[in-house]
Amino acid sequence: MRLHRSAIVIDTHEDVPEELQKKWLDLGVRATTGHVDVPRWREGGLTGAFLAAYVSGEFAKTGGAAMKALEFIDLIHRLVEAHPADLVFADSCAGIRQAKKDGKIAVLVGIEGGHAIEDSLGALSAYQRLGVRYMTLTHTNSNHWADSSGSFFGVDPYDPKKTIIHDGLTEHGREVVLEMNRLGILVDVSHVSDKTIADAIAVSKAPVFASHSSCRALADMPRNVTDDQIRAIGKSGGVVMVNFSSLFLDSKSIDAYVAAKKALQPRVAAAREQWNDDPAKRDAEIAKLLASVHYPDADWTRVVDHIEHVLRVGGPQAAGLGSDFDGIEDPPTGLEDVSKLPKLTEELLRRGHSEGEVRGVLGENFLRFWERADAARKAMPPSSEPLPFSKPN
Ligand SMILES: [Zn+2]
Repeated sequence: MRLHRSAIVIDTHEDVPEELQKKWLDLGVRATTGHVDVPRWREGGLTGAFLAAYVSGEFAKTGGAAMKALEFIDLIHRLVEAHPADLVFADSCAGIRQAKKDGKIAVLVGIEGGHAIEDSLGALSAYQRLGVRYMTLTHTNSNHWADSSGSFFGVDPYDPKKTIIHDGLTEHGREVVLEMNRLGILVDVSHVSDKTIADAIAVSKAPVFASHSSCRALADMPRNVTDDQIRAIGKSGGVVMVNFSSLFLDSKSIDAYVAAKKALQPRVAAAREQWNDDPAKRDAEIAKLLASVHYPDADWTRVVDHIEHVLRVGGPQAAGLGSDFDGIEDPPTGLEDVSKLPKLTEELLRRGHSEGEVRGVLGENFLRFWERADAARKAMPPSSEPLPFSKPN
């Protein structure tokens, strides 16, 4: 606890805004549901949390993606303003370190889903001015300039081909990544396709990171990163921030989940047939079926297994924490919410990691990565030219 309390502790992916949209709660009061609130952040020893301005892929179809991102960014600023004694908005490494000194929790913003920029570099730049410091290039939908790894959690059997549209990043996608580098928005490769990860690493002038992904070698599912990808991210100076969902941690959970979904397929087909003329009813019935899928949760020590794997494969500064709390339904047994984070410190020490290594995993590795990305930003020529304007429809 002495080490944990004195360390910078950073979680790079929490879906609090999405959770609040479903059910409004005062973040200052300890809740019995969800995974995150101020009291539990305090118990967990959090120094900094990136809250996700998550934009569902549905907005790519209907329009309004930028509006959704703006609403969540505004909500995150409001959350901070509503709890001035506990929270402070941060947009830099220095801001996180200052929060630690002041005994406050730094709240930061990442955008999840590159369609939030609506293909506009000007919108990207404006998000930066609002404090956004990372962007996940895609969510489960491929956008106009980057391929996604798709949806592993949909009702249909997983098929990576469904979201392969561009074979990685398009020319505009490369421009987006370079503009992110220039603006100081960290490039997040969680959710993107394997080819998009390779393209992003190749084109980016700054190291890249995965804000909430675990290791495919230990839990074979497409949202996790392969050993080659961990190596490449580590070599770029980046970090892999381990996701705490049981389905990201343990093959037993994944196998049971895939088998249960497969067994459901005849009933899914029957529901599609029966409610063919009533899409709302059809989707509700299928959602009910999907909610009936059960599988065993992982044990919390699996998180440490994944951390150790990243350190072994990606290098001693390559691992961190990207819990995905409030965005997942299945945290591992023993790590049910953000208040339990000190257990990770205890387990890492028990397994023989040095204090320095533990501090690295808890937050310093992420800060070092961010500092390297900042150095890359400063090395890029500033652009005073207007960004290309989007055309009216
Ligand atoms: Zn996500």
